[in-house]
Amino acid sequence: SQTHASLVEFGQRHVTKGIGRQVEAIIEKGEGSYLTLGDGRKMLDFTCGIAVTNLGHCHPKVSAAAAEQCMKLVHGQCSIGFHGPYLELIQRLLPMMPHPSLDSFYFWNSGSEAIEGAIKMARSVSGRQNIITLQGAYHGRTYGALALTKSKTVYAEGFHPLMPGVFTAPFPYWHHFSLPPTTPASELTSLCLNQLELLLQQQSAPKDTAAIILEPVIGEGGYVPAPPEYLKGLREICDREGILLIVDEVQSGFLRTGKNFAIEYSGVRPDIMTVAKGLANGFPLSGIITRREISDGLRPGSMGGTYAGNAVACAAAVATADAFKNENILENVNARSKELFGYLEPLRSNPAILDIRGLGLMVAVEFASPTRTSVHDPLRNPHAPAKLASRVAKRCQEKGMFLLTTSAYEVVRFMPALNVSKEDLKKGCDIFVEAVDEIVR
Ligand code: PMP
Repeated sequence: SQTHASLVEFGQRHVTKGIGRQVEAIIEKGEGSYLTLGDGRKMLDFTCGIAVTNLGHCHPKVSAAAAEQCMKLVHGQCSIGFHGPYLELIQRLLPMMPHPSLDSFYFWNSGSEAIEGAIKMARSVSGRQNIITLQGAYHGRTYGALALTKSKTVYAEGFHPLMPGVFTAPFPYWHHFSLPPTTPASELTSLCLNQLELLLQQQSAPKDTAAIILEPVIGEGGYVPAPPEYLKGLREICDREGILLIVDEVQSGFLRTGKNFAIEYSGVRPDIMTVAKGLANGFPLSGIITRREISDGLRPGSMGGTYAGNAVACAAAVATADAFKNENILENVNARSKELFGYLEPLRSNPAILDIRGLGLMVAVEFASPTRTSVHDPLRNPHAPAKLASRVAKRCQEKGMFLLTTSAYEVVRFMPALNVSKEDLKKGCDIFVEAVDEIVR
């Protein structure tokens, strides 16, 4: 039989170099908030596989629903007919929508595909071409989604040219203006809305602009919630100019932020909403949700995909939605969120920590950096140790916990399972505080 070490070595040789990894090990088993590795380590997972397994790994009801569906119908091709779990899922999602106008559903596999679908829908329905994205955004890795991704050059380096017709406005994150973390949201909001107005006057005419796309809590770009007044301002500009607002809830959706969807904090109505990740708790499934008035403009046959809305993934998503309701997940998110902020709060006095922020269980700690942006950045701290976020995350890993960084800045992000126990949350926070203590002396 092959040893764990020899299998890892095989993987290192034969799995594409294009994929980076946190740990050189095989993930053998997942159960709740824990992952067991092939070398025997049991790891507390505060990543949820990048905000996917929101109900923990292998939630028994979700896995059972998928197993049952496997014996009934695996592949019910959406261009051949409806299948039961597809329609049942829509029934479950309708009452969860952040606005009752969102009543037309199209399921796909990945978040990136949902973004591709949203771009096509926005272009075709509006008859306009350009899409405005925001600085720091992450929308995926396929060519259209990649063109909208502005969080790290490595995602696109060497892969250009990307989809044309994309314009970038700043996101209300203090870094984008070299302002301190204490900058009032109202100031960031007016800076960003002004820049957007300028973009519409100087670069992309409103009559050429199909949509503005954004994450209500920017994910890979730093885990920053957009201020509600900024989102309301976007909605006003969109209404004034006939531009569609695409809200990407792929990472922030499904209770992660303490509401069904993060956009609810602002009360803003999305024209198109994209979802994935937490939708099916680990099964590949994404969705493009809009109002019928918009999707009725699509020609039959213009959308589709071999595996789009797979029956097993949809059955898992139905069980996931039921568990959200039956297992009081929202209450747990809000109770654990308060505790998480409570554990992190004392770190604010540490001069190496710039900011602690987030909503629900989508929370970030940002460290100072000696090299950040440019020598002109007033936040640059030449005395801060280098690469604090990844060093702290690595130390947490050595102590038995997976924690991810974001793609830009010195940020670690907490995304424990939404049903994480009080004890496991405390355990993870203790590990983190210890790691910070050891790395930032
Ligand atoms: N949008 C957002 C906000 C995301 O966080 C991600 C994935 N991190 C995507 C889109 C792309 O999803 P996928 O990786 O499933 O293609």
